[in-house]
Amino acid sequence: MEHQAMLHRSIFGGGVQFLLGPHMGMNEHNHSLISITKSRFFSKHLISQRKCFKSSISCSSEKLNGPHERKENTAKVIYSVAPAMGHNKEAHPECSSRVPAIVNALEKLELTPKFRGSEIVQLQNFRTATAEDIASVHTKSYIFGLEKAMEQASEQGIIHIDGSGPTYATSTTFNESLIAAGAGLSLVDSVVEASKTSENPPVGFALIRPPGHHAVPKGPMGFCVFGNVAIAARYAQRVHGLKRVFIIDFDVHHGNGTNDAFYDDPDIFFLSTHQDGSYPGTGKIDNIGHGDGEGATLNLPLAGGSGDIAMRTVFHQVIVPSAQRFNPDIILVSAGYDGHVLDPLANFQFTTGTYYMLASSIKQLAKELCGGRCVFFLEGGYNLKSLSNSVAESFRAFIGEKSMATQLDEFGFLYDEPSFKVKQAIDRIKHLHSL
Ligand SMILES: [Zn+2]
Repeated sequence: MEHQAMLHRSIFGGGVQFLLGPHMGMNEHNHSLISITKSRFFSKHLISQRKCFKSSISCSSEKLNGPHERKENTAKVIYSVAPAMGHNKEAHPECSSRVPAIVNALEKLELTPKFRGSEIVQLQNFRTATAEDIASVHTKSYIFGLEKAMEQASEQGIIHIDGSGPTYATSTTFNESLIAAGAGLSLVDSVVEASKTSENPPVGFALIRPPGHHAVPKGPMGFCVFGNVAIAARYAQRVHGLKRVFIIDFDVHHGNGTNDAFYDDPDIFFLSTHQDGSYPGTGKIDNIGHGDGEGATLNLPLAGGSGDIAMRTVFHQVIVPSAQRFNPDIILVSAGYDGHVLDPLANFQFTTGTYYMLASSIKQLAKELCGGRCVFFLEGGYNLKSLSNSVAESFRAFIGEKSMATQLDEFGFLYDEPSFKVKQAIDRIKHLHSL
């Protein structure tokens, strides 16, 4: 352990500090906490990236108005792929085989552009997120520090981030996390641009990792490095003037990072369903936002064993009325697939059919409320088979094709859902939020 760099989230320093080990030229018995204050990344890229904002947007407009116009307008799904192949740890559930497993399943199930022509579009050449994008959610000391830590990671192969849940970093983590966030932002650009000329813009799906919803403003957490969905929400406001953003987080775990980023903000509604008592233990039902943001955070913990029936009821009785009342300009989704009954990390009983229902219903909600503007961001999902089948079913829902869930799901191992506890939770949330 003394030969690994350890990252400490400072509770008083406003960011991450890095405990440097002997490989950095220090005596291993005399570690020093060094607060990183300079960043080559920032000094080199921040100013030039600011200049690039306009050109990157005019670039994407050019693309939509150019020879690809017909192709973009008929698209029902547009997805980007950022697999972060270098950000990997052996035997870790959040590993580099996750995104390739999804892409392979899409190929096998004939849900790629090769089989679907212009109906399904893969976004190529998306941009990397800038420091300015990331700093809209995270502290600069965290971003500086993570970039600096890459030097240590290149020497050691892998570093562990203390106080952040079991989160690791490799020498490529910083760059690959910027790429992941950028893959989401570019989808926001594409979907928003398409919505200007079509009532049925494609749904965006960022097949990205590392995931983001646990990452808090001051640091990484729970396998998550940068808050991809939170960064996209701020980007939609700043760059596209979409003031009101509705975020649905159906990952089995509470999206505490997104929750914290917008807890005081009345213009970003954060709605999370999660397993009661699961990691990280936050997201209690009476955590409803603070100050001006009171009422714009909805946390619905559900008892272990909750499944398809619970989620369908929650969707119609909680998610729909919350979204209708909020009246968003765009819907962003933290799409975690670890609520699947086969997932090893939690105890929900969602099926691939549940994820088809969610994708189809959220698409419909976006159509009714915000011109169809909707982007999904991959979060959890650690059983590669149920993860990839569930994403494929989401694609099928987006293109309006019949679900194949009954052929993919095995129902033999499902047990009765805790319907009384679910009803109690729904009644309580309706009372708390006056739904
Ligand atoms: Zn999760």
